[in-house]
Amino acid sequence: MALDLRICHLYPDLLNLYGDRGNITTLAQRARWRGVAVEVTEVPVGTPLRAAEYDLFFIGGGEDRQQVLAAGDLQQGKGGALREAVEEGATLLAVCGGYQLMGRYYRPAEGEDLPGISLLDLATQHPGKRRPRLIGNIVIRWDPPPAGAPPTLVGFENHGGRTVLGSAAHPLGQVVAGFGNNGEDRTEGAAYRNAYGTYLHGPLLPKNPWFADHLIMLALRRRHGEVELAPLDDQIEAQAHEAAVRRAR
Ligand code: GLN
Repeated sequence: MALDLRICHLYPDLLNLYGDRGNITTLAQRARWRGVAVEVTEVPVGTPLRAAEYDLFFIGGGEDRQQVLAAGDLQQGKGGALREAVEEGATLLAVCGGYQLMGRYYRPAEGEDLPGISLLDLATQHPGKRRPRLIGNIVIRWDPPPAGAPPTLVGFENHGGRTVLGSAAHPLGQVVAGFGNNGEDRTEGAAYRNAYGTYLHGPLLPKNPWFADHLIMLALRRRHGEVELAPLDDQIEAQAHEAAVRRAR
């Protein structure tokens, strides 16, 4: 049976910092190289989300101003639909500003709290513009890495918000170099069922192709059962990953 993967890109024009769109390109291309038919649907603000039609959701990063619009729109039905989809086994990757909105709330540098969708058990507070942003290259130890994947994930982070995880969210990894969720407890990102949130931009997936494959596998499994992805020639990606690990230390 031919495999197909249905990807939903939420708010592509609104939340697209540091080339977050590259994550979609990486997912789609790596799946296509394995003969998987891929369909990417962009769902902007104001467009209803028919969540049952997708296997994998992606939401990128944005500054506080863009997050206000996205947060408002998520409260108009999309948030509940996403939560339900994840409970039913859908896969989700949320980066930075999008990650913050998957939690209970985001308290911006100025203005009122933005409600999150409580898909991930976490909350984020921006301590104000006088406090330094958490900026730079970041390396984390993936907790736990999927079978066969190297133990690290690399990226670039730039956020004012400090995220603290609740007990139902497992960290995506432990910080080796950089700041992560809050610069204090060494956790980075969050994982719950097949949903992942992270501060890693870059974009994230081109330099961490194993994470891309992990997401593709999870997303395919739901409708297609156990699948195997043929290995690709990832020499260039592995070198870029290694260089990023060395530079961040
Ligand atoms: N506005 C958020 C913060 O500064 C998210 C920033 C981002 O997505 N890079 O914490």
